[in-house]
Amino acid sequence: MSASPGAIDGGGIRVRPGGHDHHVRRPLALLLLLLVASVATGCGTDDVDRARERVREARADLEQRVAHTRREFERRRAEYGRRIERILGGLRQAVPSPQRTSPVVRSRGRHEPETIDAFLTDLLRDIDGYWTRTLTANDLPAPSIRYDWVPPGRPHATGCGHIADDRAAFYCPTDDTIYVAQQFAADLYNGVAEGLPGERSGYGRAAGDFAVAYVVAHEYGHDIQQELGIFDNSTSASAEPFELQADCFAGLWANSVYEQGHLEPGDLREATDAALAVGDFDVGNAQHHGTPTERRDALLAGFRSGDPSACSRYVDAAA
Ligand SMILES: [Zn+2]
Repeated sequence: MSASPGAIDGGGIRVRPGGHDHHVRRPLALLLLLLVASVATGCGTDDVDRARERVREARADLEQRVAHTRREFERRRAEYGRRIERILGGLRQAVPSPQRTSPVVRSRGRHEPETIDAFLTDLLRDIDGYWTRTLTANDLPAPSIRYDWVPPGRPHATGCGHIADDRAAFYCPTDDTIYVAQQFAADLYNGVAEGLPGERSGYGRAAGDFAVAYVVAHEYGHDIQQELGIFDNSTSASAEPFELQADCFAGLWANSVYEQGHLEPGDLREATDAALAVGDFDVGNAQHHGTPTERRDALLAGFRSGDPSACSRYVDAAA
């Protein structure tokens, strides 16, 4: 492999670009400013009362804004929920019918890539082929996607305002590009990727070709959400429904690999272990992607049904 494996400390897998809630941050800063101002202007009882009143007002204003943002988000998400239901409900499975009586299981070592970037490109072609068949069979335009396998030690700028470094694994809607670092992919492949949140908590262990496949298929899932117009990160107060849906989409692709008799023993386990490994318990965070078991279950839901409509429920449930 051209990517020399090496230990990288800290940080979880970044499957979505992070974000800040400006609606909440600005009033908080205002509140702090008022507190400082009230201390600075004197210690008289009236001053203190007035300062308290101002703090109360600022807090009420903040709560109002948060409630408004929340309502607005729920409204838009309900809209997305209806749209995704319509689109995914209408998608028919385009992969060949199952031949469960004698599945052809190739011997291990199908993927013996000379370089990790060649392996990533192979994977992407396969995933792209699945979605192209699925969408075009349903009279929808074939998806388009760009990819950037970030070379070791050579971080790339992205259209999403942050740098794709050696830990990169995300889809950027602005430039319609999947960024996966060759170093990160090689570490996953070799089972030496460190700092995955679920794995740190004792869930799963990401290793093997299908661990990498799961990550690429998940990121491709975000492209599909974009293509179908069911995802707009800027309106999402919570990333989780879309993240679980992308896991479900990854499961759909894994099902197509199975249906074609190309799934090897251990592949599915590698994918579900990787899904467990990238889950976390930071449930209070708006960018929370789902707990380890939620992520594994979403992947399995897609895999077991092979039916795109099985993946509509994640966004519906939250609407
Ligand atoms: Zn994601």
